[in-house]
Amino acid sequence: MSERATESHQSRRKKKKPAYKKRRIGDQILKPESLMMSYGYDPSWSEGSVKPPVFLTSTFIFDTAEQGEEHFNVMAGRSKPPEGETGGLIYSRFNHPNVEIIEDRLALIEDADMACVCASGMGAISAMFFALCKPGDVVVYNAPLYGGTTTLISKVLSKFGIKSYQIGSQCSGDDFSRALDEAAELGPIKMVYVETPTNPTNDIVNFEMIRQILDQFVKDNNCMRPITACDNTMLGPVFQTIIPQGIDLAVYSLTKYIGGHSDLVAGVVCGREELITPIRSTRGAMGLNLDPHTSWMISRSMETLTIRMERAANTGRKVAAWLADNPYVDVDILHPDYMDCPDYQAIYKRQCSGPGSTFSFVVKDQSRGTIFNFLNSLELFKLAVSLGGTESLICHPASTTHSGVPVDVRDAAGVTEGLIRLSIGLEHPDDLILDLDQAFSHAFKQA
Ligand code: PLP
Repeated sequence: MSERATESHQSRRKKKKPAYKKRRIGDQILKPESLMMSYGYDPSWSEGSVKPPVFLTSTFIFDTAEQGEEHFNVMAGRSKPPEGETGGLIYSRFNHPNVEIIEDRLALIEDADMACVCASGMGAISAMFFALCKPGDVVVYNAPLYGGTTTLISKVLSKFGIKSYQIGSQCSGDDFSRALDEAAELGPIKMVYVETPTNPTNDIVNFEMIRQILDQFVKDNNCMRPITACDNTMLGPVFQTIIPQGIDLAVYSLTKYIGGHSDLVAGVVCGREELITPIRSTRGAMGLNLDPHTSWMISRSMETLTIRMERAANTGRKVAAWLADNPYVDVDILHPDYMDCPDYQAIYKRQCSGPGSTFSFVVKDQSRGTIFNFLNSLELFKLAVSLGGTESLICHPASTTHSGVPVDVRDAAGVTEGLIRLSIGLEHPDDLILDLDQAFSHAFKQA
């Protein structure tokens, strides 16, 4: 081992403003995508290796007994680390270098103070609710949310006395105000949790409206401000960041675009230190941390995140344009470029910088048999749930992801029988269109 490498990892972590956290050249702040290859990792930790190794260890050596005591005090929240220092490494259920590298990069790209990575998107969402809510508190949320989150709120949190109140995604300021008044009758509102754009309908929730109505609500009721949180899996962080728009917490399923290759499961919550610290403690207590190897895979994926998402979004636009003009059957396109409502467009332009590549189309007046015939005819698209991977996926939510939701509730949320969701990947757009064309002509036969 080189001399450099014999300096302990624990001591190196104490250096103030380390070079591996440099974000500027001169006065100029570098773009997050330029830092995804280097930020948060010091090559001197591993013999100058340009890329971080996978730190396959369950436990970390303390330099002294006093240092072990101090690290435990910081981890348990009994004391804060000195200014500019992070808590020391203890045991991989609490933290390890690979997870810290991606937490630093995720916080950077979401413009948050800190991030807490977990073993799945649902792990991150669960750690967030259990860390920040207690029995008697109320969570206000929009519909449709990802089904797993709805189940967590309605079937799991409820068992621990955490109550909930559901609002529609397209609710007006008046509707939201009324909802807060009604929800407050159930108990103190601890959190407003939203997902935007919604999956699979691409509805949009207006952050500015939420912030303004909450300001008024807090003034009128002289109460604590509810924490705001948003699931940013569908567009973020390339086409939408949440924290700069005044929402307290940004949640992601890293399984989707950030992991990006349909080969891992992980999640994260990003936000201010005082909110993320208790979420990290809950993660440690519940054993929800992500393992070193999967963390390493995410650090690798983040290097190509922007280029993947931009390419997939461009292809998605081409596919949506073909669907809109297809010669076989009438369809509605639930893609931001095809949403006619001026209010939608105004909010979309303010909140988002691009359409992403997950969207749905609705085939009108066709039976489930015809829709299945279409899906079974595809040769390049893969028939699978999930989204955000390099390969294009297609699914029929009414018979799969949303099959457990009662039909009237499903229809009210716009998840109708004819709705088909696409997640566009990195194939050539011409080939995806070729595949859709042959499957449309086979199933809908109107040409
Ligand atoms: N949020 C959204 C929008 C999702 O689509 C999903 C999963 O599909 C999740 C959260 C849950 O993530 P995970 O499957 O990584 O637990």
